[in-house]
Amino acid sequence: MGRAFVYVILGGGVAAGYVALEFARRGGYSRGELCIISEEAVAPYERPALSKGYLLPEGAARLPGFHTCVGANDELLTPKWYKEQGIELILGTKVISADVRRKALVTAVGETISYKTLIIATGARALKLEEFGIQGSDAENICYLRNIHDADKLVNAMKSCSGGNAVVIGGGYIGMECAAALVTNKIRVTMVFPEKHCMARLFTPRIAEYYENYYTSKGVTFVKGTVLTSFEKDATGKVTAVILKDGKRLPADMVVVGIGIRANTSLFEGQLVVSMVNDGIKVNGQMQTSESSVYAVGDVAAFPIKLFDGDVRRLEHVDSARRTARHAVSAILEPAKTRDINYLPFFYSRVFTLSWQFYGDNVGEVVHFGEFTNSSPRFGAYWVNKGRITGAFLEGGSREEYEAISVAVGRKTKVTDMAELGKQGLAFAVQESQKQMSDSGLAIGERPTYVWHATAAVVAAVSIAAVGYWYGRKRRRW
Ligand SMILES: Cc1cc2nc3c(=O)[nH]c(=O)nc-3n(C[C@H](O)[C@H](O)[C@H](O)COP(=O)(O)OP(=O)(O)OC[C@H]3O[C@@H](n4cnc5c(N)ncnc54)[C@H](O)[C@@H]3O)c2cc1C
Repeated sequence: MGRAFVYVILGGGVAAGYVALEFARRGGYSRGELCIISEEAVAPYERPALSKGYLLPEGAARLPGFHTCVGANDELLTPKWYKEQGIELILGTKVISADVRRKALVTAVGETISYKTLIIATGARALKLEEFGIQGSDAENICYLRNIHDADKLVNAMKSCSGGNAVVIGGGYIGMECAAALVTNKIRVTMVFPEKHCMARLFTPRIAEYYENYYTSKGVTFVKGTVLTSFEKDATGKVTAVILKDGKRLPADMVVVGIGIRANTSLFEGQLVVSMVNDGIKVNGQMQTSESSVYAVGDVAAFPIKLFDGDVRRLEHVDSARRTARHAVSAILEPAKTRDINYLPFFYSRVFTLSWQFYGDNVGEVVHFGEFTNSSPRFGAYWVNKGRITGAFLEGGSREEYEAISVAVGRKTKVTDMAELGKQGLAFAVQESQKQMSDSGLAIGERPTYVWHATAAVVAAVSIAAVGYWYGRKRRRW
């Protein structure tokens, strides 16, 4: 048995939703020519909501409220929308093999689905503790968080351990966002990670210190510089404690594991060129893989970043998923008119009533600025490499301020005096953003506009407002 489509989107996550929207907008297909094949049982949704609004104790976000593309203030792509657009949703269906030469995919139930053009949007999967030699992470009170199924398990675990203890393994953004959600659900949290501070891949020690102090003020305990080695379980197989490498025993009613992700490239190994550096499917500036009929977008794609001198990077951020998705459709339907992607990497997170954004690359010398206070935090950092701003971080900014730091990074603004940059702080970026784009570094044609970013996760913004309410504090913005 088999079916044939002109366009097949493999994967049903954020990028898939935005690919579908872009096709619908451009009208580049006829009814029945385009399909999404997804292992998930539901239509594409805004994944960031899972660690934010979805975990709220009251008024939690639920589908259909956060289907794509609500995060960018676009249409809500419900199953009805796909039907109206003539896009076939093949849900609950895992593709188990791919043959790019024959242009065919085989699903777990043995159906062959062929295509003329394939858009790979398989994203990434959460790394499991077993991959690090630790057994037993299938216990019912150990949670990962990548999809809605994981989120439901987490919600159920939280419900059954109100007032109890949770151990969060990993100090990245999943760990940080889940820890905040657990606290909001009245669960005591201990975070365990091997690094010296949280968000070690991005935060400077000074920035991390701020967030760790903030979390500590909410009752979170940090155990740093060590890893877990095993679990203690009861007769039913439920975890009762986490044992650390230094011998410490942490009682646990539930455990959340956020130790990183791995791109879902395995179907294409040996068929498409994979980026050696960061393990994604390598694409060119048109999001096209080494096989001309195959494109890759979102977390699975490693693409050249003009701003980083064409360095090939695989990003794990929602804005990148959205942008690369739209770019691929443009390249497929209008190749002659589509220039190579020119993307300014952008990432954000929201925890408790805090909210930060980061643009660019965190390489070079760091200059901090602003008020690292609890009452009204508004601080950040610039990364300066070879005399130019390469990255900028800002907590508690206004929309204009976030826009300003994105402009400063996007233009690779020249810095002649580091001390002066520190003194001016945010004002430096604000002034720079008010200048015409003329003499300053790289002008990036497709620099994301603020509107795109500010609304990057409406669901999340709503959720944080609710968290703010939960804490009896009024949200300052959005
Ligand atoms: C809990 C959480 C919170 C996040 N919060 C933020 C945030 O605050 N800010 C931010 O910038 N980013 C955030 N992200 C990252 C962001 O969600 C991802 O960058 C984005 O989802 C990537 O989109 P994607 O479509 O490439 O992959 P995904 O959204 O992961 O979608 C991949 C899809 O492919 C399907 N699939 C994979 N293999 C197969 C197969 N063989 N057959 C069929 N289907 C398959 C999967 O089931 C899934 O539906 C968060 C991620 C998570 C998990």
